[in-house]
Amino acid sequence: MPPVSEPTPPSGLKVGVLALQGDFEAHTKVLRALGGVPVEVRTPDQLDGLDGLVIPGGESTAIGKLIASAGLEAGLRAHHAAGRPILGTCAGMIVCDSEHLGFIDATARRNAFGRQLQSFEADLDVEGAGDEPLRAVFIRAPWVETWGPGVDVIASYDGHPVAIREGTVLACAFHPELTDDPRFHAIFMAMTTTSAAAGAEEGARR
Ligand code: GLN
Repeated sequence: MPPVSEPTPPSGLKVGVLALQGDFEAHTKVLRALGGVPVEVRTPDQLDGLDGLVIPGGESTAIGKLIASAGLEAGLRAHHAAGRPILGTCAGMIVCDSEHLGFIDATARRNAFGRQLQSFEADLDVEGAGDEPLRAVFIRAPWVETWGPGVDVIASYDGHPVAIREGTVLACAFHPELTDDPRFHAIFMAMTTTSAAAGAEEGARR
């Protein structure tokens, strides 16, 4: 467990959390603790003006269907195309993979750890999260089965990638919102801060 640090001052960064199904509330708490302003997203207009977006765990088939029925797909694609960061966790990683929304050049294998290992915890070395191992909670988790050359594998478990990053998209097979270690979300908030600053500069040049 990392030392308890000072609470992060509010950054004002608006971070959406797809709130159709699954464990979105725990994400909003971590984002708030890191100084973000979480916004629950259920309708297309709630995607407007976000600096980043989290697609939480749950059940990937259900989340995919709910994205379609809520009419959110175009807005999600626009968010991604605008270079605004996305964090997909567990089922959210599956939703982002190249067989679903195609936000990351990788395929995820559902329920990959099999019956014996339905749910487990493990200490992972995560690139960008410092030297201390990160405790990760896996619940009927996928692993990354294939990935393209532009994808960085930032953590593996048992020889399989379980956290990856490509450009503005960060994805993990575990549930970083279910521990009180905020370092995985902090990587995402740093990406969001960078992209928001770049957007502000772009605006200032116009
Ligand atoms: N097993 C779920 C799926 O395949 C993912 C589980 C989770 O998000 N915890 O969609």
